Amino acid sequence: MTDTTEHNTAPAWIRVRGLEKSFGERHVLRGIDFESRRGTSTVLLGPSGSGKTTVLRSLNALDIPERGVVGIADVEVDFARLPRGRAGRREATGLRAQSGMVFQSHNLFPHRTVLENIIEGPVVAQQRPRDEAVAAARTLLEQVGLGDRADAYPFQLSGGQQQRVGIARALALKPQVVLFDEPTSALDPELVGEVLAVIKDLATQDWTMVIVTHEIRFAQQVADQVLFLDDGAIVERGPADQVIGDPREDRTRRFLKRIL
Ligand code: ADP
Repeated sequence: MTDTTEHNTAPAWIRVRGLEKSFGERHVLRGIDFESRRGTSTVLLGPSGSGKTTVLRSLNALDIPERGVVGIADVEVDFARLPRGRAGRREATGLRAQSGMVFQSHNLFPHRTVLENIIEGPVVAQQRPRDEAVAAARTLLEQVGLGDRADAYPFQLSGGQQQRVGIARALALKPQVVLFDEPTSALDPELVGEVLAVIKDLATQDWTMVIVTHEIRFAQQVADQVLFLDDGAIVERGPADQVIGDPREDRTRRFLKRIL
């Protein structure tokens, strides 16, 4: 949403080319290609089982495709050439460090406070000074509307609040890209709005985001680019108003009719 002319001439911030992934006999990704510019939001839509989560997990090397390239900022991994063993794991870890992932369910540490949950990654994994991490965590908590809950434990929060802590925790790692895997699908309906509002707010800032969601209205508001997947391939892509508002492909139309 904050794309500028300067960004338009720069190389894409996320570069995905020719991703192919199988689980056993099941060919799950069949040549996924797309690019995202810095500061933009890309939404993946599609029926259950179409491969959306596998695309997200490939972006941060939680799943390793057999073929294809993922580049984020200045790190690029060609999966077909990923060395075996330790060198390959190091490359995968380098790609993983580029992104922060927000899962369906937040997986917060139950015996640590909200603040401790958020500073864990920066202090332990990134070895940043604790004072600096605490200050940054407090700013992030303000941003997700939980400035007064730093010392609460996860069980004292609603599901929506827990998920907002999960978002703050992902952002605390200062990733180049934030990946959201159906961030509201595990929530009671009345808690969905507060989480979507936080993500919409991030979209107005400089964050680069890739979001898997079934919330079509939200997708329309937040997406700079929508990719519609079916059976492991992108069958339609474009601005939200086109793909959601005026889809060209039958498969997109049928999907939207079912879901709206
Ligand atoms: P979506 O996110 O669009 O629902 P997924 O990427 O989760 O789709 O899954 C795509 C297909 O890959 C599905 O058929 C799913 O069952 C299969 N799949 C995903 N992960 C695994 C796995 N770890 N092992 C075996 N099959 C998997």
